[in-house]
Amino acid sequence: MKKNRLANKHAVVTGGGTGIGAAIAVALAADGARVTVMGRRREPLENTAAKLEIAQCVNCDVTDIDNVAAAFTKATAASGPVDILVNNAGAAATAPFYRMDVELWRRMMSVNLDGVFNCTRAVYEDMRNSGWGRIVNIASTAAVKGYAYVSAYCAAKHGVLGLTKALALEAARTGVTVNAVCPGYTDTDIVREAVSNISEKTGLSKESALAELTRHNPQGRLIRPAEVADAVLWLCRPESASITGQSIFIAGGEVT
Ligand code: NDP
Repeated sequence: MKKNRLANKHAVVTGGGTGIGAAIAVALAADGARVTVMGRRREPLENTAAKLEIAQCVNCDVTDIDNVAAAFTKATAASGPVDILVNNAGAAATAPFYRMDVELWRRMMSVNLDGVFNCTRAVYEDMRNSGWGRIVNIASTAAVKGYAYVSAYCAAKHGVLGLTKALALEAARTGVTVNAVCPGYTDTDIVREAVSNISEKTGLSKESALAELTRHNPQGRLIRPAEVADAVLWLCRPESASITGQSIFIAGGEVT
């Protein structure tokens, strides 16, 4: 049964057109939120929005601070001030460190860390002034441990967790909570690309390449996007007001 605990709340989900972001958009909308999905490609955004009751799509490149400002102005003009921000947009390029160039390093920092800063800055002041807000950053198990060949991604996600903890303290008396949700390997395009990549580079079959990833999860499987979305939804509810500065691992026991 629909509960509408987020009725009258405007939620923005970056990277909401695909994978985990799309699942989060669906979960927030099912609890009554007006959802804006943001991303660079129009088609995936429209596919997600078509599944939601009250939704709009706004093109946004989270790495470009001017573009972010314009996107949030557009989103608030149509759906009101942002009450919930889910910083989900991200990318995970791989390279052995000795072959990583500065372009890849900057690109990973830019989308995974600067993007969180850019979008959070666009909404934080309004949330403070309204006395209510939820910021949920989709980090990763890579925010607390290393994985070979994704050092830039790991560094950026560690940064996301640092930002989450510091801002949670600053915001503690404002009614705004700031948390991170940290999935293990999840069944989305990022993992599908990683599997193809491993298979291409090592000659392993796709099944064996996938097993290389799922072996990190003690439950021996990929996480489902809806499982991540459930945790995000819980953090966004009014009842979760005292949960802040936390990292919630959705990883089958990979991080304990
Ligand atoms: P997807 O590739 O499906 O989603 C990434 C989304 O981010 C896409 O919708 C993409 O849309 C958007 N995006 C990428 N770059 C930008 C940009 N510059 N500006 C705006 N949007 C952008 O993968 P996931 O759903 O798996 O990833 C979602 C989040 O979950 C990421 O932060 C990822 O790091 C994290 N995560 C994923 C895990 C996994 O195993 N899948 C594990 C742990 C964390 P577009 O290209 O149209 O802009």
